[in-house]
Amino acid sequence: MAVSQAANIAEKVVGHSDNATIDTDISNYAKGESGQETGEKIKATVWQGKNTVEVVEMPKPRVINEGDVIVKITGSTICGSDLHLYHGVIPQLEKGDVLGHEFCGVVESVGPAAKKVKAGDRVVAAFPIACGDCNNCQRQLTSTCERTNENTIENVMYGKRTSGMFGYSHFTGGFAGGQAEYVRVPYGDVNLLQLPDDVPDEKGLYLSDVLATSYHCVVDTGVTTGDIVAVWGAGPIGQMVVEYSFAQGASRVILIDGGEAAWRLDFVQSKNPKVETLDFTQLPRRESITSQLKKMVPGGPDVALDCAAGEYAKGWAHYFEMMLGMETDTSELLNEMITSVRPFGRVGITGIYAGYTNHFNIGAVMQTGIRLIGNGQAPVHKYWHHLLELIRRQDINPLDMVTHRVRLEDMPQLYVLFERREQGLQKAFVQTKFSFPPSAGAPRLTELQDVV
Ligand SMILES: [Zn+2]
Ligand SMILES: [Zn+2]
Repeated sequence: MAVSQAANIAEKVVGHSDNATIDTDISNYAKGESGQETGEKIKATVWQGKNTVEVVEMPKPRVINEGDVIVKITGSTICGSDLHLYHGVIPQLEKGDVLGHEFCGVVESVGPAAKKVKAGDRVVAAFPIACGDCNNCQRQLTSTCERTNENTIENVMYGKRTSGMFGYSHFTGGFAGGQAEYVRVPYGDVNLLQLPDDVPDEKGLYLSDVLATSYHCVVDTGVTTGDIVAVWGAGPIGQMVVEYSFAQGASRVILIDGGEAAWRLDFVQSKNPKVETLDFTQLPRRESITSQLKKMVPGGPDVALDCAAGEYAKGWAHYFEMMLGMETDTSELLNEMITSVRPFGRVGITGIYAGYTNHFNIGAVMQTGIRLIGNGQAPVHKYWHHLLELIRRQDINPLDMVTHRVRLEDMPQLYVLFERREQGLQKAFVQTKFSFPPSAGAPRLTELQDVV
């Protein structure tokens, strides 16, 4: 919290740069002139402060820049990284900001520069907002597009910055997200992918983030034939990482989780019986994840993949240091991964880290030749055509993750359940009043009001 508050103040002093070619910091359509004046109101999920979200009404978004596309949302969801926003640990989230970076829908209207997508198209959005044309976009590193985020704090902290992102604080441009009935999508031709009729929303939606982020984690860390892979975190990303690792030729995959989330180990194993599991809350006395992994894999796994996050401290030292603002992220998972893999093994970081960490085992990295790979925010656009094909060929089934269907109006309850790792809730499909009926094999509606 200390760091995020400091970032707010610092950016007010430093100010934005002027690299963006679109209007940024439109995070709530009731503010400024970003909404229509027709009187038509939409529902949207907004952050109201630490651990509080509300579904409120606001004006419908309108086309502001030439390439903007307005999408009527038919499917949305909640993601593990939304919890970091919910907790207030991501810098520069403001009260009233609309959340949600994974959504699909139907194109309602397009700006004059949008030529590819047209009204009536079924589309899914990429969570990073890319221009499609700058140096980084041309290299297919769209999650670091140079023209959609003019926030200066990322530049100071990282020496470069990410692209704009939907529903992910002013740190990433301040764009209203898709846990709503409508959304403004800048550069719609670039950031929307048309969904064919044979791919229902409950499958296509997850191209926004989960399917691409998990795929990127596996290929960017170089998982290859014969590798033994250990995966930290059995959420939706970890689950898909298991799938893709086997698809890349991994000989064994070991999935690690524990505590309130331990049920997810069995859940993932029920979908993919080949995966081995390690529950860190059931370790024998005096055993650690590292020592246990070395027993399972003499010498240690070839690859460790972080699909959890740095926000969750295990021990007291990091708990207090984070509380006092002495670090933003814990290094406990990283150190486990670094000491677990074999010499010259690879460690891929896909779980979210925001800033700085203490007690990082740099010695082990140097002395034993660990290849530490920050996977970065996933360049979704690089992969989504291929992944859409995998869905159509039924090589991957996104429905393996999807356990619930809930109403947009129940978003506050969904945050509570998701936050406490509710048994059986792996990934939700959030419907709006515009959604199509559930497709074959997808979950039916659950009324959450009674659950919480
Ligand atoms: Zn996500
Ligand atoms: Zn770009």
